[in-house]
Amino acid sequence: MDKHQILKKYFGYDSFREGQEGIIDALIAGRDAFGIMPTGAGKSLCYQIPALIMEGITIVVSPLISLMKDQVGTLNQAGVHAAFFNSSLSHAQYKKALELAKSGRYKIIYVAPERLLLEEFTEFALQADISMVTVDEAHCVSQWGQDFRPSYLKITEFISLLPRRPVVSAFTATATNEVKEDILAALDLKQPEMITTGFDRKNLFYKVNANKDKFAEVMEYLTEHPTESGIIYCSTRKTVEEVCRKLQNRGIPATRYHAGLSDLERQKNQDDFLYDAAPVMVATNAFGMGIDKSNVRFVIHYNMPKNIESYYQEAGRAGRDGEEANCILLYAPQDVALNQFLIDQEVENEALTAEDMQFVKERDRERLKQMTFYCTTNECLRDFVLRYFGEYTSNYCGKCSNCLTEFVDIDVTAITQAILACVKSSGQRFGMTVITDTLRGSQSMKLKQNRMSENPCFGKLSDTPVFRIRQVMQFLQLEGYILVTDDQYPVVKLTEKSKEAFENTPIRMKAAKEKEHKKSSLGQDKKQKKDGITLLETDYPLFEKLRKLRMEIAKAEHVPPYIVFSDKSLKDMSAKKPKNKKEFLEVNGVGENKCEKYGEKFLTVILEE
Ligand code: ADP
Ligand code: MG
Repeated sequence: MDKHQILKKYFGYDSFREGQEGIIDALIAGRDAFGIMPTGAGKSLCYQIPALIMEGITIVVSPLISLMKDQVGTLNQAGVHAAFFNSSLSHAQYKKALELAKSGRYKIIYVAPERLLLEEFTEFALQADISMVTVDEAHCVSQWGQDFRPSYLKITEFISLLPRRPVVSAFTATATNEVKEDILAALDLKQPEMITTGFDRKNLFYKVNANKDKFAEVMEYLTEHPTESGIIYCSTRKTVEEVCRKLQNRGIPATRYHAGLSDLERQKNQDDFLYDAAPVMVATNAFGMGIDKSNVRFVIHYNMPKNIESYYQEAGRAGRDGEEANCILLYAPQDVALNQFLIDQEVENEALTAEDMQFVKERDRERLKQMTFYCTTNECLRDFVLRYFGEYTSNYCGKCSNCLTEFVDIDVTAITQAILACVKSSGQRFGMTVITDTLRGSQSMKLKQNRMSENPCFGKLSDTPVFRIRQVMQFLQLEGYILVTDDQYPVVKLTEKSKEAFENTPIRMKAAKEKEHKKSSLGQDKKQKKDGITLLETDYPLFEKLRKLRMEIAKAEHVPPYIVFSDKSLKDMSAKKPKNKKEFLEVNGVGENKCEKYGEKFLTVILEE
C-alpha cells in the first residue's frame, strides 16, 4: 500500500495537509526528518504512516501518559496494532506487553523516555527490528524550553545502543530558534528534512476582552454556547477553585485541575473532561500538555499568561479538529503585576549560575512585555502573534476582535505631550502609575510623599479617563516614544524619539470606537463560519442523535467520544447522509476499520431520519 491508500484505509482522509507529504516521503526514503508544525496540524500521521510502510517497528518517545493512551487508543480504533510502555502499567502488564512486542505484535510502540534505558526495554530493543525512532514533543529536550525533561537527553544514548541506526524523526509545535537549535543538537539528527509549516491556525478566532467583570463574561459565553466543551485557564490554584465553584453553583458542568489536587482526583477530573462528562475544564497551566481532545471549542484565559509562547500553546488546544473555535483572553492590568511578581519570585535554580538566572529573568520580563502588548494593541491580533514567531502576514485577518472592532483614529498629541512633560519634569524617576496619578491629580498619599502633587503637570489631564492615559502610554511605548525599564520597579524614560513629540508632530492612535454593549460580544457568531463544515439548521437534530449514539458507544468501550468519531466526522455524516457502507466510507475521518465496526449503527440512525 502507498501513503495515499494508508491515509484513506486507516484514517479515512482523502488528502494530506500542508507539510505532511514532505516528511513522510523523506522518512520512507530512509532520511531523518524534523517537523515544526502548529498544534492540530497533524504531526502524528507524519510518522504513523511511514511506520506502517517501513519493515520493522517504530518506537515513539512521548512525554506523557495521557498522550500515549490517546494516541494508542486512536490507532487501535483505526485497526493498527500499537501499544504503550509507561508507568501506568503494572509489572505483569508490562511483561505481557513486552512479550507481545517481542513476538512482533506491534508496529508502533509508544514509550516514556525514562524507560528507554531500563534493562528490560533495552533487552527487547536490541533483538527487535527497529526501523524508526520518533521523538514527539521534541522541545522537551531543550533546557530553555518550558517543558524540559532531562530524560529526553538520554534518547541519543538509546539510539547508539541499537545494532543499526534507525531513521530518526522529531516533531514539535514550538518554533523559537533557540529551541530548534537545541533539538537539532541534542538528538543528533543527520541532515534531516526540515519542514516548518505556517503558524497560523486559520480556524481560531482570537479575542481580547478587558471587561472588569471577568466572571460575567465567562457566564455570558457559556450561556450563549451551552453545548460546547472548552478550557478556562486561570493563573493560580485559588482562582481555579473559585471560578470552578461559582460555575458549578450556576449549574455549569465544570471540573478542575491543578497541581494541588491528588493524583487520583486529577486523573478523574481529566477523564471527566475527555469523556465529556464535565465538558468545561477550569485549570492552571498544569493542565494540557498532551491533551489531544479534538472537540475543544473554546479556550478562555481568565488571566493573562506570562508570555506569547504559553498563550499560543494553551489557546492552540482549541479546534484541533479544524472546526471553528474561540480563543478569548480576559485581560486586566493586575495580571501584569501578578506575572511581574512571579518572575521576581523565581528562585535560584541549582542548574543555573547567578548570571544565567539574571539572564532568564530579563528574558522573562521582555516576554511579559510582549504579552502585555498583545493585550493592549489595537492592531490585528493574529498578525501580532505570527510576527512574534517571525512570520509576516498582512495586518488584517478579519477574524480577531481587533479586526472586527470598529476603530477610529484619534489625535493624542495633547495627551502625549502632557505625559512626556510629566516624565521629564519629574526627572524620569517614576513608573506608569505615579505618572498617571499625577496627571489625573490624584490625592493619594504616595504623590504627596513624592512631592508629585507640586509637579507642574499635576492635574493636567484631570478630564481624561485613566484607561485612556494608560492606553496612550502603552501606545507610546510600542511606538518607541517612551521606554519602560526592566527593573524590579519599572520606570518611564524618554527616548530619542520623544523629541519629535515635543516638536508638535501630530500623533494619532487607533482606538476602539466607543459603542453600546452589543449582546453577543464574545466569540464569533455561528454564521461567520468560513472553512470547516457548516451544518444547515435542518441537519442539527440528526447531528444531536449521532452525538448520542457516539456517547453510548464511547461509554461501552471505555474510550473518549472523540476517539470513536470526531465532531467533524459527525457533522459530515449529518450533511452527507450516507445510505450504505460505500457512501459511509466517503465521510471525513471514516477508515475501513471504523466503517466495519460502527458503520451499521450509524447508518441505522441516519436512515431512520
Ligand atoms: P498535532 O500536530 O497537534 O500532533 P494531531 O496529529 O493530533 O496534531 O492531529 C490533529 C487532528 O488532525 C487529528 O484529529 C487528526 O486525525 C487530524 N488530521 C491529521 N491529518 C489529517 C489529514 N490529512 N486530513 C484530515 N485530518 C487530519
Ligand atoms: Mg501531537
